[in-house]
Formats: sequence, C-alpha cells, structure tokens
Amino acid sequence: MAARVAARREGQDLRILDHTGTMLLQEDTPDDAPMLRPEIDRADLRDLLLRSLPEGTVRWGSVFTHANGRTLHFADGSTATYDLLVGADGANSRVRRLLTGTEPSYEGKVIVHSLIRAADRRHPELAAMVGRGNYWVFGPDRMLGAQRNGNGMIQVSISIRTAADVDPAAVTDLPGEWAPQFRRLLAACDEPFVARPTYLLPIGLRWPRRSGVTLLGDAAHLMPSHGEGANQAMRDAAELAAAIAAHPDDLDAALEQYEPAMYERTAAVARRSAQVAEMMSPPDAAQKVLRFFGAVE
Ligand SMILES: Cc1cc2nc3c(=O)[nH]c(=O)nc-3n(C[C@H](O)[C@H](O)[C@H](O)COP(=O)(O)OP(=O)(O)OC[C@H]3O[C@@H](n4cnc5c(N)ncnc54)[C@H](O)[C@@H]3O)c2cc1C
Repeated sequence: MAARVAARREGQDLRILDHTGTMLLQEDTPDDAPMLRPEIDRADLRDLLLRSLPEGTVRWGSVFTHANGRTLHFADGSTATYDLLVGADGANSRVRRLLTGTEPSYEGKVIVHSLIRAADRRHPELAAMVGRGNYWVFGPDRMLGAQRNGNGMIQVSISIRTAADVDPAAVTDLPGEWAPQFRRLLAACDEPFVARPTYLLPIGLRWPRRSGVTLLGDAAHLMPSHGEGANQAMRDAAELAAAIAAHPDDLDAALEQYEPAMYERTAAVARRSAQVAEMMSPPDAAQKVLRFFGAVE
C-alpha cells in the first residue's frame, strides 16, 4: 500500500467539546482538502516502512543489552559487530546510555488508554458521535480523547495530571458533571484500560560526539505526545540516511552533518510541543485551544 493510499484525509476532522457535551468546534475536512496533517494507522505505516527493506534486514526478537567496544550483545547471548550503531530504541533507550547519563523524567501526566473495535457496526451511535477524525473533550481536571482509525477502530484515552502509579479505574470513573455519553464511550471499550505515565527528555539534549554511535527518535528527543514524535523520528532517519549517502566512507563526517541539524530541528519542535501541552492543560484548556484555532477572540 502506498503512503498516499494509506493516509486518511478525513482523519484531519476535529471536534472539540466540553465535558457537559457542548460542541465548541467542529471542523469537517472537504473531500478535496489538501492533506496537510493526514492520519495513518500505525500498523499501515510500519508495514509500509518494513516492505521498503530487503528481506532479512530486521532481526526480530534481538533484544540489545549492552555494547563492548564495537561488539553488540543481545539477550539471547548472540553478538554482532557494527560500523555505525543507531539507537532507535525509544524512550528507555539503552544505546543512549553509551552517549549520556541523562534519563527521561516524569512529565506529571498519565494517559489511560483503551479502544473500541468495529465501532460502526457494534456502536453506531458512539461512532457517529466521534466522527471521522479527532474528538477532544475538555473537562475541569482531565481530557478525554477519541481518535478514529482506518479499520473501524476508535482509540480512546484520558489524560490527567496525577501520580505515575494511579489506578486506571480512578481516571475512567468520570466526575458526576460529565455528560452520560462519555461514560458510554468508555464503557464500550474492548480492552482493560492501561495507564501510561508520560516521560520527557530535557529539551535540547545533546551529547559529546562519539565515533560510530548516534540516536534518533524518542531515544534522542522524547517530547510531549502531541503529534510530532513519530514524524520527527522518521525525519531523523531520512536525514541520517542522506548524511550517510553523502559520506559513505566517513561515518564521522555523516554524524557531523546529521547531529547538529537534528538537535536544532527537534529542540524547536519539542519547544512547540511543550507549548501545546501547556495549552491543553486543565482547567481552561478548551478556551486556550479554541483561541489557538481562531474559534474565539
Ligand atoms: C499517546 C501517544 C500518542 C502519540 N501520537 C502521536 C502522533 O499522533 N503523531 C506522532 O508523530 N507521534 C505521536 N506519538 C509519539 C510517537 O509514538 C513516538 O514519538 C514514536 O513512536 C517514536 O518512535 P521511535 O521509533 O523513536 O520509538 P518507539 O516507537 O518507541 O520504537 C522503539 C523500538 O525499539 C525497540 N526496542 C526498545 N528497546 C530495545 C532493545 N533493548 N533492543 C531491541 N529493540 C528495542 C522497541 O521494541 C520498539 O520497537 C504519540 C505518543 C503517545 C504516547
């Protein structure tokens, strides 16, 4: 499936409500609208990227534990050598520890998540309520989000400032002033709710250049989850690939091209994501978000 076929233009739709159920903003994407911020399901994106690689490039199930010089060690006891080690191992990157002692710290926010399968068939009323794209409900102390995926699935989450070890039930048990349809949405979820505390790396994190080792994606710049982390990870990968192609016989020169530009670009994006995170924080998130979208003065 090509990227444009898998991308969902209508995923750009946005509905913003308050917790009493009042619609504050509804933006429906016309059929001929430009795909400025289309959505794509993660599984489709993953398949698309994997299919572009020669067979056998990925060695599944190899859990990296540590490196000894230029030898990588994996949990199953196997080893491998490398010319360039690129840590794309996410928020809790082990490769990062080769470059810096900085670890992510708790953002103070938990995202409690579940999903509804085959929503159009099984819960038509809720599916129509959520619509084709993003559905955000701002309450006094938490935000409920629902997002349509491509296969009739609806991702459902609640984010709230609270302790990292909060019981998910305490978050999904909405306070009395929330309108009943939001409780119905939560009750329709097919999986037990899971609480995911969110962590951040300091904005502008850098490390001393080390020959043959670098990072990309969340391993390098874990930022608030407001729609940029995967985009930046892919941009990192594309720019690193271009740098290697420009310096095929000098990987240090490739890192010299890649790292400073990556630091600058992702620090700017992380700053913007932090502003969005602040904007979407209760208790007056709805007003701030509406102002951002130009829907109120
Ligand atoms: C609720 C939420 C919503 C989000 N929404 C968006 C969005 O709309 N748009 C967007 O752009 N971003 C979004 N993000 C952010 C996005 O998910 C991440 O930024 C992105 O997944 C980072 O990609 P990555 O490849 O760096 O890390 P990951 O996706 O975390 O991938 C890391 C990979 O490394 C593997 N790994 C880890 N440790 C090891 C090891 N020791 N050995 C071998 N393999 C290992 C893991 O299994 C995993 O496959 C969201 C995040 C959250 C939490």
